[in-house]
Amino acid sequence: MRAPGTHGSDARPTYPWPVRIDLHTHSVASDGTDAPAALVAAAARAGLDVVALTDHDTTRGWAEAEAAVPVHGVALVRGAEISCLVDRMSVHLLSYLHDPEHAGLLEEGERTREARLQRARAMVDLIAEDLDLTWADVEAQTVPGTTVGRPHIADALAARGHVADRSAAFATVLAAGSRYYVPHYAPDAAHAVRLVRAAGGVPVLAHPGALVRGRILSDEAIGRLVDAGLAGIEVDHRDHDDAQRRRLAGIAAEAGLVVTGSSDYHGAGKPNVLGERTTSPEALEAIEDQGRLPVVRP
Ligand code: AMP
Ligand code: FE
Ligand code: FE
Ligand code: ZN
Repeated sequence: MRAPGTHGSDARPTYPWPVRIDLHTHSVASDGTDAPAALVAAAARAGLDVVALTDHDTTRGWAEAEAAVPVHGVALVRGAEISCLVDRMSVHLLSYLHDPEHAGLLEEGERTREARLQRARAMVDLIAEDLDLTWADVEAQTVPGTTVGRPHIADALAARGHVADRSAAFATVLAAGSRYYVPHYAPDAAHAVRLVRAAGGVPVLAHPGALVRGRILSDEAIGRLVDAGLAGIEVDHRDHDDAQRRRLAGIAAEAGLVVTGSSDYHGAGKPNVLGERTTSPEALEAIEDQGRLPVVRP
């Protein structure tokens, strides 16, 4: 990050240290519960200096979040969290500072969003065989353009009184092993890494040490993404235990990757708190150096 109030690379930054940077959050453009502007306001209240907006498969929240930057005095990293697959396992790839109009990346995002929509409808059809739930209930939990996901079905189930909250829905009706679960299309992760780079973005693997149906991304699978152009790994995340953090930090050090830490905040949709994990200013500087777009500063 080019620090405010400095001239040249060895000048000392004049703002107070440590800078607090959270590089992974969601708004109502996907499965968060804060509007983008409200998310920037919440970041300011949480004492953050920099926040990244990384909605699933969309950049629709960027404009509103950008407009909130001067209001709340928090810098914004424009990003997205791209749904991917590795050997049919769901993997998430963060993209930072990419051209939001790059045709290849945009087309993949829209294809995934359409597949998510059809998949959500299919899940609701299955659920409706047993529980009182309609597609309108799910739509009521979204705004126009939202990337639809299981969290919106969870909110609809909660609104109908079938479950207490999202966590309860994911533990039962929406679990990956549930009879109502339907998978959806997503691009291969190595392809997505190459697309992000082609769009001038900085690809960072999101929470790769989190268990997905009892599986974790292997060293070999991560190595293939490094070969495709991966820039970094989200090492510090609440879904990683100490052993995973050590393993991932080792892979990152060996491959010369940027290491990030983030909250994966979803507003009221998850217990994750803004700033509960953070990224170093040096890591953000490395990301900004590789990205097409600048960080939006107050
Ligand atoms: P989907 O993308 O539709 O398959 O749903 C996965 C999303 O649901 C992830 O992006 C998480 O943010 C969210 N999620 C997963 N598990 C939970 C949970 N236990 N409680 C709340 N949200 C969850
Ligand atoms: Fe999510
Ligand atoms: Fe994720
Ligand atoms: Zn996320």
